[in-house]
Amino acid sequence: MQDDDKEPVISIRDLKKSFGALTVLNGINIDIFKGENIAVLGRSGSGKSVLIKIISGLLKPDSGMVKVLGQEVDKISTAALQQLRLKIGFSFQSSALYDSMSVKENLAFPLVRNRRNLSSKEVNNAIEAVLNDVGLSQTINQMPSELSGGQKKRIGIARTLILQPEIMLYDEPTSGLDPITSIEINNLILKVQQQYNTSSIIITHDLTCAKATANRVAMLLDGKFLTTGSFEEVFNTQDTAVRTFYDYNFI
Ligand code: ADP
Ligand code: MG
Repeated sequence: MQDDDKEPVISIRDLKKSFGALTVLNGINIDIFKGENIAVLGRSGSGKSVLIKIISGLLKPDSGMVKVLGQEVDKISTAALQQLRLKIGFSFQSSALYDSMSVKENLAFPLVRNRRNLSSKEVNNAIEAVLNDVGLSQTINQMPSELSGGQKKRIGIARTLILQPEIMLYDEPTSGLDPITSIEINNLILKVQQQYNTSSIIITHDLTCAKATANRVAMLLDGKFLTTGSFEEVFNTQDTAVRTFYDYNFI
């Protein structure tokens, strides 16, 4: 998976971000390589969402380097950032579907907006393909209000996949879902990694999700990655901060 000859897909050095007097990120360093899934673990308010918002250019860092697909997200033009963002799929915690649009319309939206040269047949084919990938072909004409929480999450992921992203950012993909549905989402994250060859960051405090989906985990504490490594490496420790996290979270 890791290939030392290749540049990382995401490279972060000494990233810092504060909001007024509140320091949220205080020296983040990580390299993520093609095809890797990294789980970022951390308590509520530890800065997980801020981190992926910075990676996707939604928030600006105060200092440090954030390089995504070879470009420094805070240094490029707005037009270049818009192009870069098309390669980054962001699965929001809330799924963020348009309630007044059907599943089909929700999926067509990013394509029609960003790939204007596609024929309606090509758009329909792409919609059918991603719906098939997330296992929800039968919902094509349904409205978001008719879907379960897990189905909404899948359609949200399908909507990002339709642009064939190189990077996926999942913000708490299993939060609020029952254990069986969570396992289905974990399996989908793995399927996306394999089928689309994406590099992913999976923000979670669900250790089952981290263990099931990630090649490496990184634990965020006090604005830094306290430790990174395989799930077993990170949790096979007597470090009190890591143990506390593990002991209170594992299901
Ligand atoms: P989490 O790890 O739960 O995802 P967040 O990254 O959302 O945490 O937030 C980390 C901290 O930064 C929180 O204290 C939050 O209130 C604060 N924060 C996040 N975004 C903003 C913002 N746009 N303005 C001010 N404070 C913010
Ligand atoms: Mg968050």
